[in-house]
Amino acid sequence: MTISRVPHQRPLRPTTKALPEDTRRHNRSLVLQSLFRGGPMSRADLARLTGLTRVTTSDLVAELMAADLLVDLGTRTESRVGKPATLVGIRPDATTIVSLDLSDSQHLRGGLVDLTGTITEHRSIAWEGRTGADALELVCDLARTLADDAGRQVLGVGVGSPGIINRHGVVLDAPNLGWHDLDLAGELASALGVGVHVANDANASALGEHTFGGSTGHGLLVITVGQGVGAGLLLDGNLLLGDHFAAGEIGHVMVVDPGEPCACGRTGCLETVLAAPLLRRRLEGTTPAEARRVLAAAGRRLGSALAPVVSTLNLGEIVLSGPADLLDGPLRAATVAELRRRTMPVVADDVTVRLSVLGDDLVLTGAAVLVLTGELGVS
Ligand SMILES: [Zn+2]
Repeated sequence: MTISRVPHQRPLRPTTKALPEDTRRHNRSLVLQSLFRGGPMSRADLARLTGLTRVTTSDLVAELMAADLLVDLGTRTESRVGKPATLVGIRPDATTIVSLDLSDSQHLRGGLVDLTGTITEHRSIAWEGRTGADALELVCDLARTLADDAGRQVLGVGVGSPGIINRHGVVLDAPNLGWHDLDLAGELASALGVGVHVANDANASALGEHTFGGSTGHGLLVITVGQGVGAGLLLDGNLLLGDHFAAGEIGHVMVVDPGEPCACGRTGCLETVLAAPLLRRRLEGTTPAEARRVLAAAGRRLGSALAPVVSTLNLGEIVLSGPADLLDGPLRAATVAELRRRTMPVVADDVTVRLSVLGDDLVLTGAAVLVLTGELGVS
């Protein structure tokens, strides 16, 4: 397995000085990240990979072992000249993550996730139309239940929620849940007493795909197709939030003019072309040949909406998340063809458009990555 280092992006205009504890925290994350992506290895290999001295590496490993995050895995089995090296690795069950997916309009979903991204428990409760304070209470209740189920130390709580969410976990606007300026991270943190990390569900999906979905590069766009259409964007390994935390709100870009009325009050939005319930309605009573034409037409609209985005950002990977019977096949093929038709070969030749391998668990997995990144600095 090849090990890629976390791309360390330096801001153009730094505003704060680095403190000694920042350096130590950074190096601790570097050690963890190397083991997270590369699997168990010796201290000597860790030092070589990270560029840290042997002494610093051993110190950090000892510190992480004391925190129960790392474990000695015995000596390397292959025959080598000299003293066999002891391997160290991350303990997958060292701690657990409480993960919540608020994106489904019918059910609030939750789970426990270990450090390898494996969901060890699922739970869901019907929203039953709850909004505002009632919806918040349901979210806190499910988080508490899951934390109790865990039976061990909880690393943190991760939440993927619909709406516009700032970097502090404040939901600025989530109309379907009746939340405006709700400090969701703060409310959950005081209810549970652990670190809480909240992001828009499509942004969480992009993180989940990047860390656990077999994503190959550092530029990734995840398009989520359900009741609505959203997108999460990673560029050079960083999640893009945008000036007003609304990066990826591609569902209400007008792609048909004149088009059908949209829930947002305008017409011809991408959502009116691609949202799953609308696509299903259009497919009702069609022959297989007609169905292929309907899906291909939707794919062409998606391809034309994506072409300027893919060109501007030189993205390498587009992941579709949603019902596979709608998205895979003629729709995906037409998206790729339209992207290629509308962009330069240097941009489009190597773009892959694929379905998420994480399926219905993508948001839960992504919410866990929020915690891994926020608490341990790994992804
Ligand atoms: Zn709209």
